[in-house]
Amino acid sequence: MLGLVVAILVADLQLASEAPLISVALLDDARVPHEWLRQARNELDRIYREIGVELVWWDPTSCSDQATVPRHLLTIAIRRNAASLQKKLSEDAIGITSGTADERGRVAYVFYDRTERFTPLHRGKYLGHFMAHELGHLLLPQYAHSARGLMRAQWNRDDLERAEHGQLKFTPEQANLIRSRASQLAADSRNAPK
Ligand SMILES: [Zn+2]
Repeated sequence: MLGLVVAILVADLQLASEAPLISVALLDDARVPHEWLRQARNELDRIYREIGVELVWWDPTSCSDQATVPRHLLTIAIRRNAASLQKKLSEDAIGITSGTADERGRVAYVFYDRTERFTPLHRGKYLGHFMAHELGHLLLPQYAHSARGLMRAQWNRDDLERAEHGQLKFTPEQANLIRSRASQLAADSRNAPK
């Protein structure tokens, strides 16, 4: 009986360690208050861990040597507002993924000013959800918006309330797609020639 319990525990551990790892860099150009940034990262970690993907934070200031940059590094850049990107975006766009040749599929922008209309109490949490949505665009096929959940194109009061309670999530189908894309990237990174 004990053997069985141990076997199940080991199987569980193996399952946990098999979660694909995704390297993510955070560029905070908006000087977000430290506490909110910490909350945002925690939310982002939690949202992805719940669908079986582990985020590994890579500090872009840690080393200037290009050789140490993880292969398939995904970048989330927090900008104060959309103005610097010189794009026409709708008033309530929370972010955008880059379409330029060298950034396509690798860089997502999130606009910090879109969180400022909310009570400071939840700003870090919302920011984390905005980041999770935009990172989702980098990992999902094109036109990834859905009628419900974290990938809704526009969020209403109900969605924000769900976010406050940690209930705004990817749909099961999106979770599968993200997990398999993450596994693909992780395997490709492992197999890359050194
Ligand atoms: Zn979107």
